[in-house]
Amino acid sequence: MTKITVKNPIVELDGDEMTRVIWAKIKEQLLLPFLDIDLKYYDLSVTNRDATDDQVTVEAARAILRYGVGVKCATITPNEDRVKEFGLKKAWPSPNATIRAIMDGTVFRKPITVSNIPPAVKYWKKPITIARHAFGDIYRDQELVIERPGTVELVYTPQEGEPQRLLVNRFDGDAGSGVAMAMFNTDKSIHSFARACFTYAIGEKINLWFATKDTISKQYHARFREIFAWEAEAHRAQMEAAGITYSYFLIDDAVAQIMKNEGGMLWACMNYDGDVMSDMIATGFGSLGLMTSVLVSPDGKYEYEAAHGTVTRHYRRHQRGEETSTNSVALIFAWTGAIGKRGELDGTPEVTAFARQLEQAVIETIEGGVMTRDLLPLTTTPNPRGVDTWTFLNAVEERLRAKLAS
Ligand code: NAP
Ligand code: MG
Repeated sequence: MTKITVKNPIVELDGDEMTRVIWAKIKEQLLLPFLDIDLKYYDLSVTNRDATDDQVTVEAARAILRYGVGVKCATITPNEDRVKEFGLKKAWPSPNATIRAIMDGTVFRKPITVSNIPPAVKYWKKPITIARHAFGDIYRDQELVIERPGTVELVYTPQEGEPQRLLVNRFDGDAGSGVAMAMFNTDKSIHSFARACFTYAIGEKINLWFATKDTISKQYHARFREIFAWEAEAHRAQMEAAGITYSYFLIDDAVAQIMKNEGGMLWACMNYDGDVMSDMIATGFGSLGLMTSVLVSPDGKYEYEAAHGTVTRHYRRHQRGEETSTNSVALIFAWTGAIGKRGELDGTPEVTAFARQLEQAVIETIEGGVMTRDLLPLTTTPNPRGVDTWTFLNAVEERLRAKLAS
């Protein structure tokens, strides 16, 4: 079999634990035998991040900006336990947060839909993609516990001119204690988020939904609505060409509409809404092993990954030599996402076609009743075969080879 040439490089970010083991197998079995590909390799294992004082993460992110497409394995975000476990110099920050900051990126999460794994909501027929504005609001707030009577004010001191003061609350009498909070966002970040959402929706040819609570938050949430409306105007011609629409909702209306809609849209969410709703959507569509994630910069650079972590519990079993049944589907789709996008950007349809064939091989394997055990409670297939991690990959390889041969 002659290999398909991938014209430009893909940046590869290796990771940790169970996903690192599966990652190597995916490359060995499903990619390298079929593709002639230049992978710019960065080892983001927690031990190498420690050895390089986390410089490897920064360099990998810069490489994605340079080459335009990257693919990332799951990585450990160290806490105190992990610092002890690996003898780290310190608890390095989340690689995903570092990469997101460097790329000024937005995360889009999209479930993989398979006909014999029906979503929990019977109306959902197509994937619902969620975008979360991962900057500011309560994630960058300042909070106070008020223990004695007093006054809380919001003070803005401009570089020039008089300070502006707003009374938040007078804590007094039997209501003399409580809590207070201040939070912020920036026009720049909201614009970047909105732009990434329009870019993604236009690229995927799917409608865009956005929701806030601007009836209550008449300044803060209203600002988000306004910026999205400006970006909608700026992208109007491109949206028309892609045959898609932009719709604004109140957040509670959006939640109600989502539950009775067939899906197939991009749902852009403010930071907290996205944190909460992405978990609801992920669970509604089935397993974490079926959720993909892509980080998109406002100017269209892409980093693909699985939404799940390093699956530590399974890795412990693997280390003890016990059998595992870890779902590799989202990891495979991270690779096919990157390869498909590379082909699109390079104008090499045979590369994109390979990615789609590999995805088909995965879906047909599951539809044929062979799946990892996390999917057994979800499938409608009678007497499905729950297999171990490696048997599933072998089954996918067999189907892929058959497809490529025909
Ligand atoms: P996790 O790795 O996502 O796993 C949590 C549980 O979800 C697993 O124990 C497993 O449940 C199930 N699961 C997740 N992915 C699965 C798959 N592919 N196949 C089958 N089951 C799957 O989350 P975690 O255990 O909280 O975190 C482990 C490490 O991952 C942490 O060090 C964390 O920092 C890191 N993490 C990284 C990323 C990232 O790089 N994007 C994201 C999240 C977490 P059962 O054990 O019940 O089978
Ligand atoms: Mg969450």
